[in-house]
Amino acid sequence: MAAQIIDGKAVADRIREELRARLARLVSSGVRPGLAAVLVGDNPGSQLYVKMKGEASEEMGLAHWTIRMPADTPQPALLAEVARLNADPQVHGILVQQPLPPQISTEAAVLAVDPRKDVDCFHPETPAGVVELLVRSGNDPAGKDVVIAGRSNIVGKPLAALLMQKAPKANATVTVAHSATKDLAAHTRRADILVAAMGAPRMITADMVKDGAVVIDVGINRIPDATKKSGYRTVGDVDFAAVKEKVRAISPVPGGVGPMTIAMLLSNTVHAAELSLQT
Ligand code: NAD
Repeated sequence: MAAQIIDGKAVADRIREELRARLARLVSSGVRPGLAAVLVGDNPGSQLYVKMKGEASEEMGLAHWTIRMPADTPQPALLAEVARLNADPQVHGILVQQPLPPQISTEAAVLAVDPRKDVDCFHPETPAGVVELLVRSGNDPAGKDVVIAGRSNIVGKPLAALLMQKAPKANATVTVAHSATKDLAAHTRRADILVAAMGAPRMITADMVKDGAVVIDVGINRIPDATKKSGYRTVGDVDFAAVKEKVRAISPVPGGVGPMTIAMLLSNTVHAAELSLQT
């Protein structure tokens, strides 16, 4: 049977629709959720992400601000800016775009954000997007053996923490594999749900996946492609063409986890604004 292709854009669109109703309720109570992004330096990837987040906020009707600081900003100046945003009642969500330049401790910057405004952390966007993709595509992780390939602080680790909770949309038995894992395939082959988050183009091949498994591909990798005008194309960490012949469901790249990340950021900002009404 043909695999279910998990359409991240369609799921993200549904999440945005649901948010519109919540947003309307907030606006009628006199609160317009606001998201402030702090961008230090001129990393092109970060500039693009912040621009996309600003456009998505605009399109949804959220207030948004981008605070640009030079690459040589000293840490105390960044922390002072974060403190100013913490104190601003119009700002419900604060996002300090990573990576930060070397003179600034990422941990210090993350810790400086008021936890009630920390839309990056209180429900980390990409892992939360993976969970929503699973649940909304009919692949609830409860009771399943989940293997996550990748242990980064922004994807693998927080995703493992979310999925192992005793809670709805969770309750999975989670294994986290990483670059020092002795036999990656031995783990991936027994996964009911495999999440690839390594940043290794098409590394997960069909022989590494169990028949009927569900595969979520978080990877975003550029590989050279002379047939494209740009000279490259984007692929995930999974050999999509071969793996889709074996599995029950799979998310593509692009069009899988990617669109979910921004939808979850908007969702976190609306949630933070709702919480602000309760305090
Ligand atoms: P990272 O480089 O911080 O972490 C990669 C992890 O994979 C590490 O823990 C490493 O131990 C593990 N790893 C690397 N090679 C491996 C191998 N051969 N075998 C087993 N484990 C291996 O990366 P990250 O920030 O977690 O991102 C991972 C991928 O997800 C990247 O391609 C990134 O672009 C993508 N990403 C996508 C989104 C999205 O919105 N879709 C968001 C964040 C990251």
